[in-house]
Amino acid sequence: MRRESQNDRVRRVFALCLLASAVLGGVVGLVWAEAKRRENLYETSTPDTSFAVRALAMSELEGGEGESGATMRICCLTFDDGPSRNTPEILRILADHHAKATFFVTAQDANRKYLPYVADIAGAGHQIALHSASHNYSEIYRSTSAFWLDIKELRQVLQPYADVETIHWLRFPGGSTNTVSHRYGGSSIMQDLKIEAEEKGYRWIDWNVCAEDATASHPNAAQILKNIQKDAEGQPLCVVLLHDTNATGQTVKALPDILDWFSGQGYRFCTVEEMAE
Ligand SMILES: [Zn+2]
Repeated sequence: MRRESQNDRVRRVFALCLLASAVLGGVVGLVWAEAKRRENLYETSTPDTSFAVRALAMSELEGGEGESGATMRICCLTFDDGPSRNTPEILRILADHHAKATFFVTAQDANRKYLPYVADIAGAGHQIALHSASHNYSEIYRSTSAFWLDIKELRQVLQPYADVETIHWLRFPGGSTNTVSHRYGGSSIMQDLKIEAEEKGYRWIDWNVCAEDATASHPNAAQILKNIQKDAEGQPLCVVLLHDTNATGQTVKALPDILDWFSGQGYRFCTVEEMAE
């Protein structure tokens, strides 16, 4: 009798241990998945006003006056992480508004079947620029050579759809001031990449207006427009970070209003390349 109850206790303790480890395992798994998801969503949400492309000549723009005497205002809409199922609709809206934009494309698994849209983007006169093939921070920021290998792969993947020889602009995933890269490649990796980018003849650009359309809070179209208006306030040159992914349908919904708002404020739309020229 005594032995049996002891066995019962052992069984109970064992079952409890099993349950506890299952719960713990689940929690660890969830935390890991959340960390992974955040990493994928990670973009520097703070507008980066030091986007350091010397050729931008911000000061010239700030003082620049058009023929009418009004201050020249320029808006570069930039779409990261595409192409996606939303690309054709984005192109249609941009065409309706006679606006040119820049697409920093990727070749992640989710993009692969939409890659032929890259030809449509280029064909419509928009700029194709590089972002990342894998967009996997732990891979691309492991070392500078890993980063350039990923860029090389992206160029190869784009070959059938765009004239890759003419592509000289890139945007670092997470932005040039991101710190998530330090985890994988050390604290100097972004500085090293910027130097190497210049040596390789690349020009890179961040943004100073953030739609925050790819954040975990999944803002609706109205909120996306508000986020943009808040950052754009008082800026004669706006480089707007938007996303072209399967998950950012609200960005497409907001796009006509975004275009109308910038037009109403006297901004002229152009690609990053045109703006730098
Ligand atoms: Zn990105």
